[in-house]
Amino acid sequence: MARYTGADCRLCRREGNKLFLKGDRCYSDKCGVERRPYPPGEAGKKRVKESEYRLQLREKQKTKRTYGLLEKQFRGYYDLANRQHGVTGENLLRILESRLDNVVYRLGFAKSRDEARQQVRHGHIQVNGRRVDIPSFRVKAGDLVAVAPKARDLLVIKTSLISNEKTEVPQWLEVDIEKLQGSVLELPARDQIDLDIREQLIVELYSK
Ligand code: SF4
Repeated sequence: MARYTGADCRLCRREGNKLFLKGDRCYSDKCGVERRPYPPGEAGKKRVKESEYRLQLREKQKTKRTYGLLEKQFRGYYDLANRQHGVTGENLLRILESRLDNVVYRLGFAKSRDEARQQVRHGHIQVNGRRVDIPSFRVKAGDLVAVAPKARDLLVIKTSLISNEKTEVPQWLEVDIEKLQGSVLELPARDQIDLDIREQLIVELYSK
């Protein structure tokens, strides 16, 4: 699957928000948003006129980039969320949170969603005892997500765990650090997703 390969910090600066795409660096004073709090490029410091459409577009871009997705895939998730019962915006965030790469990141087995995606792709992650190497795989309540036995000594996972010690695992997940595994207790409600996203703006954008 094609993916964005440019500089991650540019994406945060474009959104004017920390999207936490680079692990430890995001918590340091090297963070691009902290150092240069204006959009990248020549026109970065010019004032831009706000419009309803622009707000909706930026919110969609911010969400898409937070989860590291391209437009087609993100739109597919929106369509799926729209077909489900309930509030479309909340459905969308729940679907995004249930991706395996996100769950690996949320459990603290990776410093960023990008790193989690690599771990999944390299076959380092199992779901219910079976290797799953598809980052977009969606977990469900009751699933057990674990680091594969052969990958347990991998430095990248160990350093992620150390680095993420202070990060709280969300309520809808339960982690067992000793066993390097985590359970999906339930899929998250909106108030269990700690992202500063106004999902209703995304729904308004796509509903036009
Ligand atoms: Fe974004 Fe992290 Fe770069 Fe800061 S360091 S701009 S949060 S990717």
